[in-house]
Amino acid sequence: MPSAGPAAPLRPERYDALMLLGHAFSTGWVEVIAGPMFSGKSEELIRRVTRAIIAKQHVQVFKHAIDDRYASMAVASHAGRTLEAELVTSPAEVLERLEPGAQVVAVDEAQFLDIQIVDVVQHLADAGKRVIVAGLDLDFRGEPFGPMPELIARAEVVEKLTAICRCGLAATRTQRLIQGRPAHFNDPTVLVGAAESYEPRCRACHVVLRGPRETPLFAADASAY
Ligand code: ZN
Repeated sequence: MPSAGPAAPLRPERYDALMLLGHAFSTGWVEVIAGPMFSGKSEELIRRVTRAIIAKQHVQVFKHAIDDRYASMAVASHAGRTLEAELVTSPAEVLERLEPGAQVVAVDEAQFLDIQIVDVVQHLADAGKRVIVAGLDLDFRGEPFGPMPELIARAEVVEKLTAICRCGLAATRTQRLIQGRPAHFNDPTVLVGAAESYEPRCRACHVVLRGPRETPLFAADASAY
């Protein structure tokens, strides 16, 4: 950690394990924060980035432009904390916008980016940067989501967060509800006009409909993409 003043004595109890990683890895490294919706991934990313900023490190934060839930230019947690972010639609844009001297590069909602994000993240870590990636590890079907499995495999450190299921146990999955009913495995990922909602669920409470539909998916006001 660069510091202008005299070096303070290392007091490990004042640093969390991730700060100590800087001592464990002499080069760059990759941290992945994974988990279902409502598990605090963005909150944890904001916490880590905020600490890096306080440590006067050069930080850049990116997120996929599809995530417009709360604010167009910010990483926002469900708890309401925000952090300025640059919107990208492709992994190549991360490299294009990279500022000289960037030490810490954070990417939120990484599950929406294509598989090229793996090469970009590897390149950044190889170049000596700390890379923090947050994203959904599983989609609403409970299947591995986009580039996340490969990012998790290549990361030095992975933290899987959980939310709280309606039954009170730890939720590891995201339940998708369309017009109040569990989504079908074959339902399109993007629906326009349908009333959708998401809930954190544990393995036992997570429902994915399979086989023939008992009820039609679409009401008159919904259309599929
Ligand atoms: Zn449950």
